[in-house]
Amino acid sequence: QGALPRPEQTRIMIVANQKGGVGKTTTTVNLAASLALHGNRVLVIDLDPQGNASTALGIDHHADVPSIYDVLLESKQLSEVVQPVVDVEGLFCAPATIDLAGAEIELVPMVARESRLHRAIEAYEQPLDYILIDCPPSLGLLTVNAMVAGAEVVIPIQCEYYALEGLGQLLRNVDLVRGHLNPRLHVSTILLTMYDGRTRLASQVAEEVRTHFGQEVLRTNIPRSVRISEAPSYGQTVLTYDPNSSGALSYLEAAREIALRGQSAQQSIQHGTVEG
Ligand code: ADP
Ligand code: MG
Repeated sequence: QGALPRPEQTRIMIVANQKGGVGKTTTTVNLAASLALHGNRVLVIDLDPQGNASTALGIDHHADVPSIYDVLLESKQLSEVVQPVVDVEGLFCAPATIDLAGAEIELVPMVARESRLHRAIEAYEQPLDYILIDCPPSLGLLTVNAMVAGAEVVIPIQCEYYALEGLGQLLRNVDLVRGHLNPRLHVSTILLTMYDGRTRLASQVAEEVRTHFGQEVLRTNIPRSVRISEAPSYGQTVLTYDPNSSGALSYLEAAREIALRGQSAQQSIQHGTVEG
């Protein structure tokens, strides 16, 4: 893969949508692998108690493995739980174990409960180009921790009939967190997933999303692809499972767009064309 421009600062991308099954985890692991294959150092933080991102990256996450739960609740260092992904150089994962299911409630009485992930990331000393956070399908304290820790929200949208339902609530939460906890937070990227170009519905939904959001929507759509859905059962991303499949190529292209957009955002800040 051709190398892409590396960001000057670590870009922290929060992959969120409180709907389940829209492609959050698939997008997190495949974008992360794509960015790593493009020459970046990338950390995936699995913030879903299901641990699907850990599984998809072939990372051991049985109950005794040091995990993101220990970082959030037991003040373990992030460096103590991060594992390398074996078949992709430059890709790392902080796994989730099933005890994370209790974290939403256990976090409630804790000091600085919304910013524990932020603090852990701040204290992490390894150089990283990207951190991608795979959120659970809810807007609770785990997702809030992700939103406090980063600046960019990535929303995968499945091209189906109810695609836009619930997005209002997600966007209001982003506004709330920006207003009260993290002024840098914004929706930077919307990615259409499981796109089936043969159906009218998919193209209508895509058009509606593009009309509604405009420039945040990536030009690349992720096609519905059997190879994408098979890869996790081999503990692989589609990038290594079937590198020439349409699914792999679409995630590589989406990663390229994200990298290039980040660069033009940095340049326009340097040239003073963007305020703040
Ligand atoms: P979420 O994390 O939002 O719950 P997932 O990423 O786990 O969603 O995706 C839900 C299901 O859809 C999974 O079984 C996954 O393998 C499948 N899937 C995701 N993206 C695609 C795609 N582009 N083509 C085919 N299946 C997909
Ligand atoms: Mg998931």
